[in-house]
Amino acid sequence: MSTIGFVGLGIMGAPMARHLVAAGHEVTGHDLSPRGVDALVAAGGHAASGVAEAVAGAEVVITMLPQDEHVEEVFFGPGGILESAKPGALYIDFSTIRPETSQRVAAAGRERGLRVLDAPVSGGEKGAVDAVLSIMVGGAREDFDAARPVFEAVGRTFELVGGSGAGQYVKAANQLIVGGTFGLVAEAIVLMEAAGVDARAGLDVIAGGLAASRILDLKRGSMLARSFEPGFRIDLHHKDMGIATAAARSADVALPMTGLVASLIAAARSRGYGSLDHSALLKVVEDLSGR
Ligand code: NAD
Repeated sequence: MSTIGFVGLGIMGAPMARHLVAAGHEVTGHDLSPRGVDALVAAGGHAASGVAEAVAGAEVVITMLPQDEHVEEVFFGPGGILESAKPGALYIDFSTIRPETSQRVAAAGRERGLRVLDAPVSGGEKGAVDAVLSIMVGGAREDFDAARPVFEAVGRTFELVGGSGAGQYVKAANQLIVGGTFGLVAEAIVLMEAAGVDARAGLDVIAGGLAASRILDLKRGSMLARSFEPGFRIDLHHKDMGIATAAARSADVALPMTGLVASLIAAARSRGYGSLDHSALLKVVEDLSGR
């Protein structure tokens, strides 16, 4: 059992914090919005009025925040984790952010005696609710081992993939596969519907063959029904494609498919779909096809 300070109780953070309480940890949470905090308290956790109160004295500090600027504010800002966490605390950042930001956070944290892991996740809201997330971890082996009880409470598959920032590179790779798959499932639906075939039966049979995927399993029903409640917002996937394309540029590699998917996701935002689920790429393909 550990005392845990948890900041960022949104779509992903709220169920993750709940699982940590259920696993016997003493969890104190903070979010700018009361919804996730109320849910944590109802599950047996505690509410904090700010970051400092949530993390002071905690053995483990966790963040699950949208973007780089939120992590930077919560970590480096006044009353933030760097200032308020106790030396020796293990800081696990589950957010998806740029690898360079994770590296900067880890270096600053280490100077103050914090142990820091970047640990972005995959599995979506359902993976968080069912505690079966895949967790890609960057940092030191002994810190990864110390974090096992936390990973076991919220996830099913977790791997140490390298030093600080490495988890974020793997997450970027994950997101280009997810974005590309959504784009192609969207194109498959548009093609089948335009050809007048039974797209539902079509996707059922496709899901039994080589093109099977978790995305087809979990999302084909809602895509066919044009239900785009997030889930994972287009805005956040756009951020992730920015991370992937920047990583490709600095590694001097060509990722042409990723560039195409990034453009489609950018188009989804410009068309006003940013707050919809990323499966709303279907709407962009329909727009392009005049359907
Ligand atoms: P979300 O917007 O639902 O939740 C983020 C929460 O952070 C919000 O409740 C917000 O109020 C809170 N927050 C922001 N700034 C804060 C601050 N300064 N102090 C306290 N709280 C603050 O986002 P989400 O969907 O839970 O995603 C979180 C992260 O997880 C993102 O990096 C995302 O890319 C990643 N992720 C999301 C999914 C998904 O399916 N939603 C899947 C995998 C990874």
